[in-house]
Amino acid sequence: MTYRVIALGCQMNISDSERVASVLQGAGYREAEREEDADILGVVACSVRQKAIDRIYSKIHEWNGWKAQRPLLTFVSGCILPEDERKFLRLFDLVFRIDDLPRLPELVRTYGVPVPVPSGVEPQRSVTLQHADDFWAIAPRYQSPHAAYVPIQNGCDKFCTFCAVPYTRGREVSRPAADILGEVTRLVENGYRTITLLGQNVNSYGKGLGDAGSAAGTPAFPTFAELLDEVGDVADTAAHRVWVYFTSPHPSDMSGDVLDAIAAHPSLAKQVHLPLQSGDDRVLIRMNRNYRLEDYRKIVGDIRDRLPTATLFTDLIVGFCGETEEQFAATREAMEEFRYHMAFIAAYSPRPGAAGSRWDDDVPQSEKKRRLHVLSEVLQRTALAHHERQVGATVDVFVEAEDRQPGLLLARTEGRIPVRLAGDAALVGSIVPATVTAARPLSLAAELSAAHTLAAAPAAAG
Ligand code: SF4
Repeated sequence: MTYRVIALGCQMNISDSERVASVLQGAGYREAEREEDADILGVVACSVRQKAIDRIYSKIHEWNGWKAQRPLLTFVSGCILPEDERKFLRLFDLVFRIDDLPRLPELVRTYGVPVPVPSGVEPQRSVTLQHADDFWAIAPRYQSPHAAYVPIQNGCDKFCTFCAVPYTRGREVSRPAADILGEVTRLVENGYRTITLLGQNVNSYGKGLGDAGSAAGTPAFPTFAELLDEVGDVADTAAHRVWVYFTSPHPSDMSGDVLDAIAAHPSLAKQVHLPLQSGDDRVLIRMNRNYRLEDYRKIVGDIRDRLPTATLFTDLIVGFCGETEEQFAATREAMEEFRYHMAFIAAYSPRPGAAGSRWDDDVPQSEKKRRLHVLSEVLQRTALAHHERQVGATVDVFVEAEDRQPGLLLARTEGRIPVRLAGDAALVGSIVPATVTAARPLSLAAELSAAHTLAAAPAAAG
């Protein structure tokens, strides 16, 4: 019996799908090369974005079309809003919360793979799981032998008014530090080059838990800075270079000791993703962001003082409910001031369940588009200025994959700036030195430095 799981959404959905694959594999199912060959088809997705919802519907309609010809079981999990869960129950055979994943094999066995249903016959009723078991204990089936996601926390207590995550993933739960350190240690030992610690709000990790669950004087839940320190200790001693990232932190939980930990460990990558969302305090209050522009400015100052080589990324929303031209201008000015290396800019769209979805979405689409375009231009200009200063420099890059164009490789700097360079496919999975030859608005072109060595390729890359 074979399965195929696809992830539609963010890094957290990819990470969850790796654990889903692992559970099915552990239950004796084999991964199919193609969806067309699988007996069990699942999607791990985010139902808070319309684009993802559309893709989920398109997938399940295609899969259900196959059911008349062959036995097939379908399931959906991930970040699912309660109202979508009810709709999905009519389309998928199984719908479950991701923390109920350990019970999936039992449910598959109980439910069975349905035989083909002739058209006109009422299909078997769908099923949902009822209770949770230990999700963190599941060892994931990583999609890459070089780059891994490690979840450290799930859910969120912040309730930003534009976001539905607290309703889809529930309240914040931190993963015990011993589990995280165990997974990081195994990844380092297996030659992984990049490790990204994941959570909806990573820097509130362990908040309020103190030494809960401590054994032999070791807190089960240290602070985020202490956790980073311990992860850095593990990754610093690796036999090869490792870059450890984390995403996403919240500005209101960003403390100096987190930046000190990054500065102290060579393996903690010098890159910070700090979502601003808006440069106007009145909009930040409506968004329930719990910081003001001045607080954010101080953190950026600390980052630039303590981590002078770090790249700075952000998230921004334009056209949030009631955003005036003057408030938008404040965001544009903030972008000019903070000179981001990368910004993920979204036009506001209401998320069902979030408080903002009950407010008037009063900025016209055409105006949202215009504002998005203005900010994109600012980003391209500020990022290009950063990149131009790199031309001629030799920097280490992590080679992620082969480019579609034969002979070219896709890589990233430690600061996560995309780089294209010519090179042999055997370098995929390595960190190699490269000399920057040209700057583009959102990427760099480079050539392999004469000093590079194939011996840098990790054991896992074969
Ligand atoms: S945007 Fe706000 S509510 Fe949503 S996950 Fe991030 S911190 Fe939590």
